[in-house]
Amino acid sequence: MAHSTTRRPHVSSRAAALRGNSLSDLLLLARERGAIDLALGIPGYPEPAGDIIEAAHEAMRSGHNQYAHPSGDLLLRERIAATLRPPADPETELTVTVGATEALCVALLSTVDPGDEVVLLDPGYEQFSAAIALSGATPRYVPLHAPDWRFDPAELAAAFSPRTRAVLLNSPANPTGRVLTRQELGQIAELAERWDTTVICDEVYSSYVFDGRDLTSVTEVPGLAERSIVVGSLSKNYAISGWRLGFLRADPARTETLRRVHEVTTLGTAAPLQIAVGLAALSADLPAAGQEMERRRDQALGIFTRMGMKITPAEGGCFLFADISPLTGGRLDSRAFAHELLDDTGVLLVPAGPCFAEPERGAQYVRIAFNRQAELLSEVERRIFGARAAGK
Ligand code: PMP
Repeated sequence: MAHSTTRRPHVSSRAAALRGNSLSDLLLLARERGAIDLALGIPGYPEPAGDIIEAAHEAMRSGHNQYAHPSGDLLLRERIAATLRPPADPETELTVTVGATEALCVALLSTVDPGDEVVLLDPGYEQFSAAIALSGATPRYVPLHAPDWRFDPAELAAAFSPRTRAVLLNSPANPTGRVLTRQELGQIAELAERWDTTVICDEVYSSYVFDGRDLTSVTEVPGLAERSIVVGSLSKNYAISGWRLGFLRADPARTETLRRVHEVTTLGTAAPLQIAVGLAALSADLPAAGQEMERRRDQALGIFTRMGMKITPAEGGCFLFADISPLTGGRLDSRAFAHELLDDTGVLLVPAGPCFAEPERGAQYVRIAFNRQAELLSEVERRIFGARAAGK
């Protein structure tokens, strides 16, 4: 067997195309130094509701420890369905998944073949490019333009072709904080109809929409609703990202296919946790949580603007997407900047390179997660301005 340690195993071209977590070195350093992590989307706010934790204990104690229905516990599906606009049919239009992460892979694997093309906005959530690579399809990126991260309708139209099988959207968006308007969704609908493509929309941050905006779901837009697959999650809205509860919403015909693929990928997520959330009735007050999140956005915006970054306020979601060039004068790229900030203040941000199809475009941007406790953000402020006062 000695030779087997030196020979690299054969891997599929799909696996070889995956780049792995671009943050691992920074995360390791941050952990060693006890840094405050504003990098990952792990919710530090809101707290999970006490009653779902109690309900999870109870579900396990009362014997719900075996497989659930592969499409998801029906009571949970009913609860999720009631939170959606317009409400979904829990029997035929919803499938509970292992987070939005599985939902995204299932949506792509159900829709595209190797060689097909998927249109997506750039910059975007890093996982999108990875999931497309795993599906064997080819990404067609549409650039979003700073400072407000909108697409040019002509560039959007140019990305479509007879090979386009899907459009992959995210609203509110990671990392840009954009919420797609009805008008933008209308432009996408026109192209999706013309090229007969499926529209997959990740709406995991649906509860966090700011400044009096209303989130328009793809299910509310004529021309998109009937060709859409919505990817949703309980990770962020209910702060239970470790429970791995997400869902897919689509019409009954698409749902049949999604469920077949989902049965192969995971056969379902943790039964007692599904039952717990179903029983506790998703009791979180989401409008109040949305308003509180807006205050966290303002707090983070205040800190990092005062520091010298240029930031277009996030319209929704949990992230600020900040231009560091006024602060660095181009002296440092975002990776070097993140290292320096970590060294000087013990605060970790994300260099934005991996969010872009061409990582160089991210050299002047960082992503800042603000779904954190207010006191933690205040500590960030103390660390940054304390360090500056000390001349670091
Ligand atoms: N979609 C987006 C846009 C995200 O930012 C995240 C978390 N970072 C996810 C999906 C993952 O969600 P889940 O925990 O439900 O897998």
